[in-house]
Amino acid sequence: MSREMDCNNGKDKKRDYRRQQKDKKKKEARDIYPEDDEAEKLADHLKNCSCQACCNPRKGWGEKTMQERRMELNEEEDFDYTSF
Ligand SMILES: [Zn+2]
Repeated sequence: MSREMDCNNGKDKKRDYRRQQKDKKKKEARDIYPEDDEAEKLADHLKNCSCQACCNPRKGWGEKTMQERRMELNEEEDFDYTSF
């Protein structure tokens, strides 16, 4: 093993672990949705749903997403700081 390999703080191990976990979830997804060819795409949440409770709020109710609201708040704060 080269010196560089020794000095990556165990990142290879961590990546291996993440891939292992992801593969496990992909297998689970394939078991749950055997008829779905793209079941592995659902591995992150095992949810195959686009109802109003699960989907993006902009799509469901025309509301802004949490991320957008947070960004607007930050912009307002920036404005207050500069006005002093
Ligand atoms: Zn749903």
